[in-house]
Amino acid sequence: MTLFKRAKAAQSAPSAPTNQASLAELALFTIHDGVIITDAAGTIRYINPAALSMLDLKSVNNAIGFDYAILLKIETKEGRELPDAENLLYQAMRTSQPLDGYQASLIVGSSGKRLPIAISVIPAAANNRIITFRNITRELAEEGEQTEFISTASHEMRTPVASIEGYLSLALNPQTATIDERAQGYLESAHAAAKHLGHLFQDLLDTTKLDDGRIRPQFVPVELVGLVKQIADSFIVAANQAGLKYQFGARDNSPAAPAHHLDQVVYGFVDVNFMREIISNLVENAIKYTPEGGAIYVNVRGDGDRALINVTDTGIGISADDISHIFQKFYRADNSDTRTVGGTGLGLYLVKQRVEAMGGRVWAESGFGEGSTFFVSLPRLTSAEYEKRMIAVRNANMVKQGGLQ
Ligand code: ADP
Repeated sequence: MTLFKRAKAAQSAPSAPTNQASLAELALFTIHDGVIITDAAGTIRYINPAALSMLDLKSVNNAIGFDYAILLKIETKEGRELPDAENLLYQAMRTSQPLDGYQASLIVGSSGKRLPIAISVIPAAANNRIITFRNITRELAEEGEQTEFISTASHEMRTPVASIEGYLSLALNPQTATIDERAQGYLESAHAAAKHLGHLFQDLLDTTKLDDGRIRPQFVPVELVGLVKQIADSFIVAANQAGLKYQFGARDNSPAAPAHHLDQVVYGFVDVNFMREIISNLVENAIKYTPEGGAIYVNVRGDGDRALINVTDTGIGISADDISHIFQKFYRADNSDTRTVGGTGLGLYLVKQRVEAMGGRVWAESGFGEGSTFFVSLPRLTSAEYEKRMIAVRNANMVKQGGLQ
């Protein structure tokens, strides 16, 4: 009997099974989530009807004994090819690490159909792995509607908030208004709150722009050491005003700090505006969360086929509980050190979103009270690839200017 027939039989059986194993089997037959069980080598040992249906397979014989990667082919949510190094499903299966709700696009059979899915991997007994995946088409559509609502609402509210902020500034300016001392205190609080609201709407607008496809990365070949240095250096004054030492290049006492680092060239293919937003957010955070007398170090280096940027500070650090959440929307670590520092909790979400749109990865290493390092890893170009892309850009520019026909 095929799995489908057994599932039907199980569903329509007049007397429902009562022993635990049969009930578990009934659940696996009936749920809408795809379930695949593989051995340590990734060979499929079990597949449930929902998985067969999502993979467009006629029978279990087309799956059992096959390598999971042949059937579960994925690309990024945006439809970009996923090299093994960035494919978290591949990494989880290889290393037997758990994976939770990884969003990707499933390439269904040979039809070329794409299905948005969220995949989890659970390492199980005897080196087996349980892969579950579910169709998230509806969730994404709802998210899209939410994004559109947030974007329109923030856009509409930004103008009146800017006007409130402007009038409060006028009220607080002795050349344009006269107020008594008590009113001054109230208006200062109102002004700070209006400014915070303005930042919140601006951050919300910025994050939704990429979610709803209003902006797409405009990739250009660049030399990353120079670009990151230029962006990070623009915060020297702010860092010094906050009583912090700032240094570009590896940390003085770091063993991985050969003197030639500053001379190294690291090529990348990135969106320059995204890079500006990413580096600015990370350096601004380093300044915000480092008490006077501390230091900030920014560095870029080549690491095989990746470019690795780090923004390190000697500040308040992030606890182990918080570190897994800080890249989520609106998440702010809540402790006596962060409570006094203004913020919206959207900066790191925006950083992650921008980094991933360029095929990169961002993560933090820290401990509470130990300072923090934020790493951004991006695909790196060899100098030959960089030259090739530069020539393409130059040619395109010449065509635009009418130089080449
Ligand atoms: P915020 O606007 O609150 O700074 P972010 O999304 O940029 O929002 O950061 C989220 C949270 O991560 C912050 O509220 C803070 O708790 C923590 N965080 C970010 N950067 C640092 C850092 N360099 N040092 C310590 N904590 C940080």
